[in-house]
Order: sequence, then C-alpha cells, then structure tokens
Amino acid sequence: MSSITSQQALDCRVLVLNKHYLALRVICARRAFSLLCRNLAEVVWCDGGAYANYNFQSWKEVSEAKRTFEAHKYDWISTVNFDIAVPRVIRLLCYDRLPGKSVKFNRRNLFARDNSHCQYCGKKFPLSDLSLDHVIPRRLGGETTWDNIVCACMKCNVKKGGRTPTQAGMKLVRTPEKPRRNPVIHVHLNHERYSSWKQFLDHAYWSVELT
Ligand SMILES: [Zn+2]
Repeated sequence: MSSITSQQALDCRVLVLNKHYLALRVICARRAFSLLCRNLAEVVWCDGGAYANYNFQSWKEVSEAKRTFEAHKYDWISTVNFDIAVPRVIRLLCYDRLPGKSVKFNRRNLFARDNSHCQYCGKKFPLSDLSLDHVIPRRLGGETTWDNIVCACMKCNVKKGGRTPTQAGMKLVRTPEKPRRNPVIHVHLNHERYSSWKQFLDHAYWSVELT
C-alpha cells in the first residue's frame, strides 16, 4: 500500500465522522490534513478492534513510529522535515449535526451505482468513456431521475440514439433505481485501504452525504 507517491496519497479518501462518530462524508486526504492542521478534526485510528484518537501533533509523532515498524500498512506524505501517514478516518471536533438523509442525485453517485459499467453492453469503462443516458429519452417525456438515468458507453449511447431501449432493440443489464446505500462509499469499501471504515458505517452508512 505504501508504493504510491505523496501526490497520490493526497488524493486518498478519508471518512469524516461528526463529533458523535457518525459517518458524514468522504473527502480527500488533502482536505483532511487542512482540517487536522487547524485543529478542527482529529485522527481516529482503528486496527483490529483497537481505537485511538490523535490530534495533528500526536499523529505526526505516532507516524514516525509507524514509519519505522509498519510502513507498509499506510500511505505516506513526505514533507521536507517529516513523513506523515494518511489517516483513514477523521472526526470533526465541533460538528454535531447528523448525516443527511438521502443519497444525492449526482454524476458521481450515478457512476458509482452502476460501478462504471455500461448498462447496455455490461462492460466496464474508465469514467472518461462513459456518459449518462436517459433510458426513456427526454423528448418522449423521460425524466432526469434515478430510475431513468444509467451509465452508457459511447458506442451504446450512439447506437441507442434518441430511442427507447425497446425501439433500439437493446436491453438494460439492470433496472435502474435509487440506491439505498451511498454508492461511492460502497465502492471504496471493497478496497483493503478503506476496510477500517466498516466499523463506523452503521445505519448512517446509507445516508452519508458526499462533498
Ligand atoms: Zn456499452
């Protein structure tokens, strides 16, 4: 895990908890460090059922030990004077509002719901090669909603044109619907790097709002 560069490490995802340890959202490590440096948040470290909380200064010190003994378990950011491990979870010290109630309808969540797979040919594509398709075209009254928008590759999108799947002789691999869980978090959970998020994702798991 430690083979990525500092620059890549700054883009790692960090789970944000509110003061009461409820999962709120996911941010990049860059933003997490900015909150930690200003003492607006602390690191919540957990490993195999053990927990510890660290402010920025103590996390920096703990990182030194981790660098020596278990560097492979973390991603690292190297500065001129020290190396610091990317935290996986941080907790906002003053924020006690509850997580939002529903999954936001946006491009990121749509791509995550469909797991970057074209819903017509079923193949996986890089995000840059995927578009969003109105299953029932807008001109036929199709709405821009969870159950009428799917990911489609360029080829399928062109083939379908402004028609319904039936008209185009195409079939959806899955009926689109509004996800009950937050799809972006779900995608990350499959990665070993983010396995420690699991213990914070109770019922709030499904309603985490992303920014
Ligand atoms: Zn396709």
